[in-house]
Amino acid sequence: MILNIISGMSDLNKRYQCATNVAKHFKCSHLLILIKDPEIDMLLPAPGFPQTLSCDDQWNSFLDNVKASSFYKGILNFRGKFKPMKATGILSPDGSVAILFGGDPAKDEIKLFTEMLPVLTALFLQEQKTQIAQTKASFAEDIAMRAERLTTTVDGMRLLLKNALVKQEQDKLAIEALLRKKDEFLNIASHELKTPLTSLKAYMQLLQKQGGGVKLPQDIATRSLKQMQRMEKLIADLLDVSKISNGKLDYNMATLNFADLLNETVESIQIISPSHQIIIKNNPDAVLMGDRSRLDQVLINYLTNAIKYSPDDDKVIISSEKQGSDLVVSIQDFGIGIEQEHINKLYDRFYRADSTIANYAGMGLGLFVTSEILIRHGGSFWLESTPAKGSTFFFKLPLQSE
Ligand code: ADP
Repeated sequence: MILNIISGMSDLNKRYQCATNVAKHFKCSHLLILIKDPEIDMLLPAPGFPQTLSCDDQWNSFLDNVKASSFYKGILNFRGKFKPMKATGILSPDGSVAILFGGDPAKDEIKLFTEMLPVLTALFLQEQKTQIAQTKASFAEDIAMRAERLTTTVDGMRLLLKNALVKQEQDKLAIEALLRKKDEFLNIASHELKTPLTSLKAYMQLLQKQGGGVKLPQDIATRSLKQMQRMEKLIADLLDVSKISNGKLDYNMATLNFADLLNETVESIQIISPSHQIIIKNNPDAVLMGDRSRLDQVLINYLTNAIKYSPDDDKVIISSEKQGSDLVVSIQDFGIGIEQEHINKLYDRFYRADSTIANYAGMGLGLFVTSEILIRHGGSFWLESTPAKGSTFFFKLPLQSE
C-alpha cells in the first residue's frame, strides 16, 4: 500500500497530494523533497512541490545536520506559515533531502520510504534537467524573436531616417529652385513693365517738347495706347495669377453667344495689331454658359500670342466649330512653332520655351491663366505645332443644351 502511494509521486500533477498521503501514513502532516539546483548549487523544492521556502539560519543548520548524519530530527518552521514543528530529515545518496513535518517517525518505520527515496529523487532531478532545458530553449527563442523584432525596428528607423534626409535634401533643392524662380520672375516682371513705361515716357516727353495745344499725332497715340494695353495686360495677368493662387478668381457666369464674343474680340485685336490679318474662317452661333470677360481674356491671350510669335508672317486664322455638345475653337499661326519637348509644359505657370525667352517679351503667365479659366468653364485644351512652320492652339467648351 505505501509502495503504491510512493510510486504515485512519479506523476507530477498528483505529486504533492501523494507526498501529503505519505506523510500522513507516517503520522506526519507534510512531506517535502528538496533536490539540488545545478545552476545555483542549492537545495530547492523538487518539481511539483510548493516552490516557496524560508531560507533562514534555522533551516540552513537543519539541512547541514541532515547532510552530516543522513537521518536527523529537529524543529522547523514549515513555509513560514505554521508554528515551529518537529521535522525529520532524510538524505538521499545524490544529495537530495526529504523532510517529514509534524511527526516523529522512527528510522525503521520509514525504511521503505528511505529506500525508495533515491529512485524518486533521480526521477525529480531528470525532470528538473528537462525543465531547465525547456526554459533555456524558450528563453533563447524569446531572445531570438526580440532580436529579430529589434532588427526590423532598427531597419525601419534607418529607412525612415534615410527618407527624411532625402526629403530634407529635396525640400532644400525645391526651396532653392523656388527662390531662383522668384528672382528670375522679379527680373522679368520689372523688365516687362519697364519697357512699355519707357516708351510711354518718351512719347509724353516728345509731346511736352512740342508745347501745349499741339494735336497728338495719330501714330503716336496708337503706339502709346498699345504700350498702355501691354502694361495693362501684364498687370492683369499678375493679379490673376495671385488670385488663382488664393482661389479668388471670380467668375460671373451667364448665357452668351460665343460667336458674338469672337467677332468683338477679333475686331478689337485687329485695331491694335495692323501687322497681321486675323481671318475668321468659321463662327457658328454657339450658346454657352460662361464669364464673358474671362473668355474674352482667353481669346486675347491666344490671338496676341499667335501675332507675337509669328513676326515674319501676316495672318492668323481663327475658327470655331460645333462638335456634338461642345464647341471647338482653333487659333492658327504660321510663326516660329514650338519644339515637341515644350508642348506639354507651355500651360505651366512661368513656363516659356527656350527659343522665345531671348527674343520675345513675356512672362509665361498668359497660358497658365487661360488654362485656369478654361478648366473652370468645364473646358479642355491642346495644341499642334511644327517648329518654323507654325502652331494651332485648340480649346473646347461645353455648349448649353437646347
Ligand atoms: P508669354 O507669351 O508671356 O511668354 P504665355 O503663357 O502666353 O506667356 O506662353 C507661354 C510660352 O508658350 C511662350 O513663352 C512661348 O514659348 C509659347 N507660346 C505660346 N503661344 C505660342 C505660339 N503661338 N507660337 C509659339 N510659341 C508659343
